[in-house]
Amino acid sequence: MSKDTGHIIPEQPESWRWPEEKWRGVVNKIRAGRSMKPAQWPNGAKVAVALSFDSDHETQTLRWGHHSPGKLSQGEYGNRVGVPRVLDVLKKYHAQATFFVPAVIAMLYPDEQKRVIAEGHEVAIHSWIHELNSALAPEDERELQMRSADKLEEITGVRPVGIRTPSWDFSQHTMEITREMGLIYDSSLMADDDPYEILENGQPTGVVELPVEWIRDDAPYWAMDRFSGLRPYTPPSGVLEVFKREFDGAYADNGLFLLTMHPHFIGHRSRIQVLEELLQHISSHPDVWLATHADIARYCHEQASQ
Ligand SMILES: [Zn+2]
Repeated sequence: MSKDTGHIIPEQPESWRWPEEKWRGVVNKIRAGRSMKPAQWPNGAKVAVALSFDSDHETQTLRWGHHSPGKLSQGEYGNRVGVPRVLDVLKKYHAQATFFVPAVIAMLYPDEQKRVIAEGHEVAIHSWIHELNSALAPEDERELQMRSADKLEEITGVRPVGIRTPSWDFSQHTMEITREMGLIYDSSLMADDDPYEILENGQPTGVVELPVEWIRDDAPYWAMDRFSGLRPYTPPSGVLEVFKREFDGAYADNGLFLLTMHPHFIGHRSRIQVLEELLQHISSHPDVWLATHADIARYCHEQASQ
């Protein structure tokens, strides 16, 4: 508590004492390198659309070690209602998408993952139980990331090629593990609107970033927690407006429109309409490439190597 103002201020970690070498090192650890936005998208498309669904379901409760059947049921809705509704809408608009799935959810709901793959979508890495990477020992993070990939492959029959860190919590060691695993993309960082190559300590990694942003994520608008201040304040029409404007901007820039959604949020009756109306809006434009993150990352790699 500051005596002067009466305001509660955060503890000052004295980073102002850091020597230049220290703060430069912190900034340079993980950074955006060359743009990997291709000169053109396949078949003359004016925009690449990457829809992603993070099927967190019950791990949003399990990650904190909670047992509450009430909270767990909110996640269960994601499997029972959310994913089937999302898949139906995607099918109607011939849209391919990527589902980022914690391994524990894939084990709870193997049939859901098999259906996702059977309908032409991608399943990619999204932690073991939605643990926070930055809170883990490096060897634990490595083991969990590798075990998660093995589990997804065992269940879906397809080896994952990309990762989204849970809560976009990219640790000091995530990049090293991602490279060791030979993954072709990450989708957890925010340094651009369009794809770029990740640098680690100033060196190119060969891994393409498909950037995310909280404004292109349904969770900040719609998450609800009875025992915190978290309340959904944005109506479906407001969220739709933000997403449409982001798409329109990407279309005008010949760029990437990447959206993160959660089946247990977007799957509700009042909100699935947002996905449907967004896809109507997208489909009303000529020359749109709707693809999985893996296909977009592969294309960016191909074009960048020419
Ligand atoms: Zn998640």
